[in-house]
Amino acid sequence: MIIGSYKKNMVEKKAVIIANWKMHKTSREADDFVRKLASHARSIPAQVMIAAPFTAIAAASMAASGTNVLIGAQNMSPFAEGPYTGEVSARMLREIGVRFVLLGHSERRRLFFETNETIRQKVERAVVEGIQPVLCIGETLEERESGKTGQVLTEQMRACLEGLSSEDLRTLVIAYEPIWAIGKVAATPEAAEAAHLDCRQFLQEKWGEETALQTPILYGGSVNPKNIKELLKQPNIDGALVGHASLDVETFVQLIKG
Ligand code: PEP
Repeated sequence: MIIGSYKKNMVEKKAVIIANWKMHKTSREADDFVRKLASHARSIPAQVMIAAPFTAIAAASMAASGTNVLIGAQNMSPFAEGPYTGEVSARMLREIGVRFVLLGHSERRRLFFETNETIRQKVERAVVEGIQPVLCIGETLEERESGKTGQVLTEQMRACLEGLSSEDLRTLVIAYEPIWAIGKVAATPEAAEAAHLDCRQFLQEKWGEETALQTPILYGGSVNPKNIKELLKQPNIDGALVGHASLDVETFVQLIKG
């Protein structure tokens, strides 16, 4: 049984809020957004991170330099280097300022056929290359309705983190994103909390208490300025992954200010 939570044990930790821009924003738009966001950054009580499209990462990183906003990618090759047409490596991303990477987002699983095994290889590559992995997991509506949520989440975590040690998972972030909630209606804080607790317990069983307590578990799926506060009140919800509501800078600032 779990005896604590990320928040309780790491009192100095801030909520982690990640913007997932998906396939939105050119370099110029990213630059403009990050400059406006950075002007609020000091008064923001959260660790703010932005997952930008590949082509906007360099501009976003430059605009974020000297601020506490971190820039990341939404995908990455599992390979170090080589004949992989169209792929982008961790080393390429690091050089343009990438600090973290979203891996296993449900849109990549569903539309681009990413499997748990490919995602596992990507997590491993991120760890080797010193990029913080943000592993996205989540169940379909059908799985939820048949009472399989906990089972699906733990199976995705087991398969995507197989073979990694607690030392490897030092910088891991888990993003619980129920597929039925993305772009639709958010899970209730209670339903999200129950799923987060399942994730935390699985981390504890598999990698021990320290890993379970140091891993931020974020909720994603229709988070907005109105529902963020209640979600973050839950003991095991350590932050949020935000899609739609991260595209407009004023809305996003309102959201991260809680
Ligand atoms: C997402 O797809 O990562 C996401 C959280 O989207 P939205 O906030 O738009 O539901």
